[in-house]
Amino acid sequence: MTVSDEGRTPVVSVYVGLGSNLENPARQIMRALAALGEIPDTRLLEQSSLYISKPLGPRNQPDFVNAVAALATSLTPEALLASLQAIETRQGRNRDSGRRWGPRTLDLDLLVYGDRMIETPALTVPHPGIGQRSFVLLPLQEIAPDYVIPGLGALKTLVEECDRTGIHKLDHDTL
Ligand code: ATP
Ligand code: CA
Ligand code: CA
Repeated sequence: MTVSDEGRTPVVSVYVGLGSNLENPARQIMRALAALGEIPDTRLLEQSSLYISKPLGPRNQPDFVNAVAALATSLTPEALLASLQAIETRQGRNRDSGRRWGPRTLDLDLLVYGDRMIETPALTVPHPGIGQRSFVLLPLQEIAPDYVIPGLGALKTLVEECDRTGIHKLDHDTL
């Protein structure tokens, strides 16, 4: 690999999970989807509908708006994560609250990166919890119905088994 290739690999399919529950969450998600399409060496292939879901962990916070996007990228997982975190920061993500699963203007999780299994201090891929989270599984199923999640199995089965309490698709007429 030459110096100019640093941070780049052959093109890989990835999925990104989006979430927001502050400052007009639906607008935050639409803006983030547009920003994903602007990441260098990366193309936005597909985006799901928007979903409303109940927060994980602390309940005394607003409902979330969630979506999933499919990208093709030649960035490494680390470089892509840095781009995702830059978008979070640009959209006002405040990492100082110290509250796990607290409210945020934007959360971008790297759900899957090709068929890579990654376990480093900065990055766990596939993203932990993905197999149980209906706000990831339902939008992912919309854009990749026959997908088999590396290490976890068929999306269809995971969707059948997941708890769908408190999640519904956002009516786009209300946006
Ligand atoms: P959860 O990860 O359970 O959805 P969260 O999204 O609220 O919780 P964050 O505070 O956004 O967690 O992220 C904490 C750290 O997780 C980040 O600093 C990042 O380095 C790390 N991380 C590990 N794996 C991933 C991944 N696949 N995608 C995004 N961040 C990841
Ligand atoms: Ca998250
Ligand atoms: Ca996150």
